Amino acid sequence: MTELERTSLIAHACATRQTAHAPYSKFLVGAALLTESGEIIVGSNVENASYGLTICAERVAFGTAITSGHRRFQALAVATAGGHAPCGACRQVASEFCDDLLVLLIDADRPDRVVEATLAELLPGRFVFPAS
Ligand SMILES: [Zn+2]
Repeated sequence: MTELERTSLIAHACATRQTAHAPYSKFLVGAALLTESGEIIVGSNVENASYGLTICAERVAFGTAITSGHRRFQALAVATAGGHAPCGACRQVASEFCDDLLVLLIDADRPDRVVEATLAELLPGRFVFPAS
């Protein structure tokens, strides 16, 4: 990932927060995926009145990317107030397509403050479908 790609990825994650449908939690999340080919695919959280049907921004981004034909990724940026890490479900979904992945955790109130982690650090012992 180039510095320009990194800067753009962070900006996309921050901007995409504004598209979130979060009337219940008011917790806006923006995710941006950098594909292997250098495209940026975004997602925001989509809440539902039944709570359990809520879809995280990261999974929206992965679903959009997969639907668009992408299968390999360089990095995932997630922007929240406070710079929170993805939930366990999103980490497992990411691991479906990435043995490892750079994850940028962005505090949307201070986008200059980015914490870097790897998916392997965030999800040790991921579930892998048993070989038959
Ligand atoms: Zn999640």
